[in-house]
Amino acid sequence: MRGRLARALDLYEYQGKELFAKYGIPVSEGRLATTPEEARSAADALGGTVVVKAQVLTGGRGKAGGIKLAATSGEAAERAREILGMDIRGHVVRKVWIERASEIEREYYLSIAFDRSAKKLLFMFTTEGGVDIEEVASSNPDALVRLHVDPLVGFRPWHGRRLVYGAGVEDPSEQKQVAAIAAKLYEAFTGCEAMLAEINPLIVTPEGDVRALDAKFTVDDNALFRHPDLAELRDVDAADPLETLAREKSVTYVKLDGDVGVLGNGAGLTMATVDVVSFVGGRAADFCDLGGGGDAEGVVDALEVITRDPQVRSIFFNIFGGITRCDEVARGILQALGQMGIEHPIVVRLDGTNAEEGRRLLREADAPNLYAEATMLEGARRAVELAQAG
Ligand code: GDP
Ligand code: MN
Repeated sequence: MRGRLARALDLYEYQGKELFAKYGIPVSEGRLATTPEEARSAADALGGTVVVKAQVLTGGRGKAGGIKLAATSGEAAERAREILGMDIRGHVVRKVWIERASEIEREYYLSIAFDRSAKKLLFMFTTEGGVDIEEVASSNPDALVRLHVDPLVGFRPWHGRRLVYGAGVEDPSEQKQVAAIAAKLYEAFTGCEAMLAEINPLIVTPEGDVRALDAKFTVDDNALFRHPDLAELRDVDAADPLETLAREKSVTYVKLDGDVGVLGNGAGLTMATVDVVSFVGGRAADFCDLGGGGDAEGVVDALEVITRDPQVRSIFFNIFGGITRCDEVARGILQALGQMGIEHPIVVRLDGTNAEEGRRLLREADAPNLYAEATMLEGARRAVELAQAG
């Protein structure tokens, strides 16, 4: 499955670090570059040895060759030339972050995520950072401190102490710095309504300074309306063009890999529809939730997004009328068809409030590509059949 049902905005490392700096988490000074020449002048401005880092929304850049040290600005330009355009697990590098190189004594790991089952935030901290945290969790689980924070209580100084003592950090200055960074990371996490904040590695320099060398920060898409400054950080070039179009039209849409365009009203029903399509041997092309609406305009917008996907062979409307009245949706569909001239076969299942009236409207319209079905299962079967025939 390509799309995610939980919507999220992933920040690039450099964006995450700029955010960290705003919250007072120490990071190295750096500049963004999109060409080798820009990398050269960035390195000149920073002075000394720099590190050239690929900016892509995937981890493991180091192992993939996307992170290189450069002793001079000429070398920085060379390394940038090698890294720009590189393909790291399907992500093409268009930007590099040039930062003053750090000397590393030790690498730690610190993160905050949701623990949904506990309904709390979860801190994870270990002095065995720099590597995959899943590796530490399985090979050396005792080294990984897991600490819940009750959102109603918030972060308290003892949380910080519990983290550093739990992981066996012995140096008092280091303890203080890590605990302070944990407090600030918590502020950044809650202040931005994040879903994940991860620093791997959190380094200790030979001088004993603790600093974030990497940043992974994911913001909850559904909270972005409260954070226009964060919403602007989205890289539209890296996003799926269909999802971008959907966002512009305020359509709740997630691209999937199949050929049956799915439309439902309400997230639960729409997800169930995606499942039923799989159950009868087909594959949904998307998840598209009409929400409580179902007026003609909403239907036109949703159909525009769905039919823009060249993989779509048939469309399955699954509407359960509650607040949404089925006759309204039927009128919406007919009006949309009148406006758009869609050639895809469209299967419509209407049930609930005013369903009979809705089905009558569809029947009377007598459109050749419109198929009314009474149940979700029959509707899914018909839509899959039509997709495979078409
Ligand atoms: P990731 O591979 O995508 O997680 O990228 P990171 O930013 O975590 O960097 C990966 C690794 O590159 C780090 O764990 C470090 O070992 C190394 N690295 C990154 N920046 C520096 C630096 O400034 N100095 C040194 N010596 N190594 C660095
Ligand atoms: Mn990392």
